[in-house]
Amino acid sequence: MSAANGGRVTLKPAAVLRCPMIPQVERWVGEAVSPAAERFLGAEVVEIRVAASYGCRPINHVKGGKLSEHGHANALDVSAFILADGRRITVKGGWNGSDEERGFLRAVHQGACREFTTVLGPNADRNHHDHFHMDLARHGRNGLYRVCK
Ligand SMILES: [Zn+2]
Repeated sequence: MSAANGGRVTLKPAAVLRCPMIPQVERWVGEAVSPAAERFLGAEVVEIRVAASYGCRPINHVKGGKLSEHGHANALDVSAFILADGRRITVKGGWNGSDEERGFLRAVHQGACREFTTVLGPNADRNHHDHFHMDLARHGRNGLYRVCK
């Protein structure tokens, strides 16, 4: 996946994802990321920095651990958003940054929780201090439980 929101937002580098992830990413960008950028930052998002997508590895890179959803191409990590005016909002710098950055990143995180079954950000743990992790893992007995933190 190299772009979202009708091609207006570039994913860089392009993400390798299972098909079911694609409409969710599309909706997240179109209904959460782009409107939040307009609302909080007064600018269009033109690029989303992909920190990871498909990668054959265990969760949090812990050797011998359970295979990460990244190993199923069922996960996307995003570290920054680039605006049309050149501003770059990073999860690492913006999560506790200016009011506008904080508002934007929290809206983006909340929006992700509507589209994905797992969303982990800086409040989740130290491994996620610099990116949002989103995946479509099935949680709980009926697979419907959601993780949003
Ligand atoms: Zn991840």
